[in-house]
Amino acid sequence: MDRYRTYLIFGAPGSGKGTQGKTLGTIPRFFHCACGDVFRSIDTRTELGKAFLEYSSKGQLVPDELTLQLWKSRIADRVRDHSFKPEIDALILDGIPRTVYQAELMIDVLDVRKVFHLECPDRPALVARLKKRALKDNRLDDANEEVIRHRLATYDAESRPVLEFYGSELIRTIDATQPPVKVLGEIIDTIAQGE
Ligand code: ADP
Repeated sequence: MDRYRTYLIFGAPGSGKGTQGKTLGTIPRFFHCACGDVFRSIDTRTELGKAFLEYSSKGQLVPDELTLQLWKSRIADRVRDHSFKPEIDALILDGIPRTVYQAELMIDVLDVRKVFHLECPDRPALVARLKKRALKDNRLDDANEEVIRHRLATYDAESRPVLEFYGSELIRTIDATQPPVKVLGEIIDTIAQGE
């Protein structure tokens, strides 16, 4: 199998990955997959659904092997039902890989063309965005400040090293505090130039 031509949307919780990913996914020949959405779509009565609730409600990551197993089977479903056509579609991923080990487990499937790092050094701004989202989207993991802080600490400890894994050549850092349309413009310009 050829590896999927892929663009990663990377950043801390609240940096706007989902908003950008969803918007890019509406462009023809792009297919968007948000790992958090994959988890949230699981029936919470199943073992996997229960595991997800347990980890995410504490601000922790779901274990890598379990995450990859689920993600790979979900992407295979989308290829089978032709919503993702790897021969012509680029894959837009947000929320995965989230650890260096996940990135290693994805080497055989992803041909990563660019990593868009939505950078937001202003932590209070991220916390405010997450709290707002908790109210709007009914996200349990955003509801409490302690969980939010834990998720941001998890990002620093476990996810940020993924940037070093891909290396500076592949990374395009974007100021995530700009209005969404500006962030989107920078992403689209970069992709269009590389195509
Ligand atoms: P956010 O971008 O705000 O962190 P997500 O919707 O991407 O939110 O993820 C919500 C939760 O789902 C995470 O806190 C984590 O528990 C779980 N999760 C999502 N993606 C992954 C992943 N790649 N590996 C492990 N856990 C994940």
